[in-house]
Amino acid sequence: MASGVIVKALAGFYYVQDGERYVQCRARGLFREKKQTPLVGDQVIYEAENETEGYIMALKARKNELSRPPVANIDQAILVFSAREPDLQLFLLDKLLIHIAIQEIDTLIVVTKIDLLEPSARKHIAEQMEVYREIGYQVLFTSAKDRVAVNDLCPYLANRISVLAGQSGVGKSSLLNVLSPSLQLETNKISTHLGRGRHTTRHVELLPLFSGWIADTPGFSSLDFTAVAVEDVRFYFPEFVSRMDGCKYHGCLHDKEPACAVKQAVANDEIAETRYKHYLQFLEEIRKQKRRY
Ligand code: GDP
Ligand code: ZN
Repeated sequence: MASGVIVKALAGFYYVQDGERYVQCRARGLFREKKQTPLVGDQVIYEAENETEGYIMALKARKNELSRPPVANIDQAILVFSAREPDLQLFLLDKLLIHIAIQEIDTLIVVTKIDLLEPSARKHIAEQMEVYREIGYQVLFTSAKDRVAVNDLCPYLANRISVLAGQSGVGKSSLLNVLSPSLQLETNKISTHLGRGRHTTRHVELLPLFSGWIADTPGFSSLDFTAVAVEDVRFYFPEFVSRMDGCKYHGCLHDKEPACAVKQAVANDEIAETRYKHYLQFLEEIRKQKRRY
């Protein structure tokens, strides 16, 4: 028996890439008993009938799975934000970082369309993003239009499954097209896949890119906090975690509590005020949601 990764699922078939081999597989009945549905991204054991056809016999354990798009074993989320058109959305960035951390997926932040910035604005955005570098995130600045630094993405793609995230219009397809012109993704569309009718089956495919894989559909489009507890949000802010031992109260939410080391660090400009404000907004959003249910 051989093993490979499902790179496409369509009309009851699973397409398994096993090195150079591309095998069209059906799932054996055992999945129905276990109520398991193979997903794109799954590592599978399959039995080849011939060079191009076979049966999936078993799925290996998943490290994570997303429902939108339905992909398993994602190693990395590449968060794409435009510096302009639309303007850099730090609130959305902070929210995405939480949702991605919950899934235990690595993050790469890409700020693109930097060609649209005059030097002073460029400096300002570099300073804003320095905050993220300081707390441990990787940040790249690119322009698909001027082909600036797009290739810096390549080492991050190797040997991993990546999913892109970011609003429509920020330049995700344009970046992929520069990285791999043969993809010829349509740009300037209201996300081709996400815009489809709700009742059509979602189809997602992993595209080979620099010896890794990238999902052809953006992820993390719905960002509600229904499954997140108020007490957990603080753990997704690395700059809070490193200081929380200094808070007077064990279990401090860094909100109304006195003698809070996080609030002190905000007052001392050691923690970015925008990040702290967003944190309080997230707490409020979650509390509101809980009241509603
Ligand atoms: P997506 O919806 O995130 O895939 O965004 P697209 O790649 O479709 O890009 C949306 C619009 O932004 C298109 O009109 C692109 O031509 C434009 N665009 C993308 N990247 C850049 C860039 O680096 N610089 C500039 N000036 N425009 C860009
Ligand atoms: Zn505190």
